[in-house]
Amino acid sequence: MAEEQDLSTATDEVIHETVLAWLKDNWRTDRPLAEWRNILVDGGWAAPDWPTECYGRGFSLAQAQVVQRAFREVGAVGAALGGPGNLAAHTILAHGNEAQKRRYLRPILTGEHAWCQLFSEPGSGSDLAGLTTRAKRDGDNYIINGQKVWNTSAHHADFGILIARTDWDAPKHQGISYFLINMRQPGVEVRPLRQMNGHASFNEVFLTDALVPVTDRLGNEGDGWRIASSTLSAERQAFSRDRGIGTLREREGTIYAEYAAEQAIAQEPYTWYPQRAGRVDLALPRAMATGAIRDPVVRQELARLLCLAHAAEYAAASAAATRRAGSNTIVPAGSIAKLTASLIARQASHVHTLVSGPEAMLGGSDGPMDGVIAEILLSVPAISIAGGTDEIQKNIISERVLGLPKEPRFDTGPFRDIPRNAS
Ligand SMILES: Cc1cc2nc3c(=O)[nH]c(=O)nc-3n(C[C@H](O)[C@H](O)[C@H](O)COP(=O)(O)OP(=O)(O)OC[C@H]3O[C@@H](n4cnc5c(N)ncnc54)[C@H](O)[C@@H]3O)c2cc1C
Repeated sequence: MAEEQDLSTATDEVIHETVLAWLKDNWRTDRPLAEWRNILVDGGWAAPDWPTECYGRGFSLAQAQVVQRAFREVGAVGAALGGPGNLAAHTILAHGNEAQKRRYLRPILTGEHAWCQLFSEPGSGSDLAGLTTRAKRDGDNYIINGQKVWNTSAHHADFGILIARTDWDAPKHQGISYFLINMRQPGVEVRPLRQMNGHASFNEVFLTDALVPVTDRLGNEGDGWRIASSTLSAERQAFSRDRGIGTLREREGTIYAEYAAEQAIAQEPYTWYPQRAGRVDLALPRAMATGAIRDPVVRQELARLLCLAHAAEYAAASAAATRRAGSNTIVPAGSIAKLTASLIARQASHVHTLVSGPEAMLGGSDGPMDGVIAEILLSVPAISIAGGTDEIQKNIISERVLGLPKEPRFDTGPFRDIPRNAS
């Protein structure tokens, strides 16, 4: 990061021109992808909104978008930030020590390390703090035993962000610690799960005497719940953002071919995510094409959908403006965005059902749009569950935004004494 000038107070025009000039000197389509990404990191353009001491330039989100625009104009490949790697980076940046930042952040940006999130367990999803995976200190290591589930991308992850219980005598939320675990070791077994929409994005992960060096614990022992909460806030926030699946894959050149191969693996678990969001974009064209638009009930439900979708766009723009102005409202904004995304997806699914009728149930080439409509109906329920269910978002909003009283708790005192499923 030697030659960097401070552009954090520069105008958008200056930033845009500076990035274009830098890309003119450095971007070549015949470079290997890894070489390019390292140049990108060294140039300070891989994650310009990260702090200057961690490969960034301390840019605001709005300034980082100006950089992205310049990359898009040139057709240049960006850093490998997306999915669980993004969550890991967010959490390491906020809570990691210097050694952890040095070791883990750069390979996330260059795409050399893929990550997964090992939070949920068979007996603890909404009640995440009830987790029972154990991390027992043994000299310079922790020995991990337990089972995680619904872990997106774990089947090709090199590392995982893991929460596990280190103290059974502490109250539920205080006995948890946060770890960075190497997935490529003998005690980690990953078993893929098949979903009702035919895809296999998640896994079960069995941890049997897996090892995590003490140096890979994030924060202090017992501080895991606070750190996990910041990961979850970032995850909810991501629901209101574009996934950024680029169109660069279709271009020609060595680097694009490598990028396409990388993306085919990294994005494979997310290919059905547009369907999960309800495909609002298809609702009006299909209503017109099928003639269902003439039905007043369809028109009314369609109007309701489009109003909701527009309202969500304005709410997202307002949340983005609040963030740009420096306000830290990430928790409620993320919960509201997530809940709205669920509402829209369900309404879209309802409209697609009205428009397509019983044919909506036919998958593959037998169904409308080669089965896309059936895939929507089978995928939409996931959005109300992933990243915290709708009911949990409502609890967060009612307690933290509206200031309503909390639900009565029966899970105080030492965790070992709290009644839970036999295990
Ligand atoms: C697409 C997708 C991707 C995912 N990716 C990951 C991942 O990468 N890593 C990971 O660790 N996990 C992942 N998950 C798991 C996800 O976080 C959990 O499924 C979610 O937290 C819900 O937990 P659960 O499935 O155990 O449901 P439960 O917690 O058992 O909930 C069952 C029902 O009870 C309701 N309920 C529970 N508690 C309350 C309460 N206090 N008040 C009101 N209602 C309540 C819920 O809203 C729900 O309707 C993913 C899930 C999906 C669908």
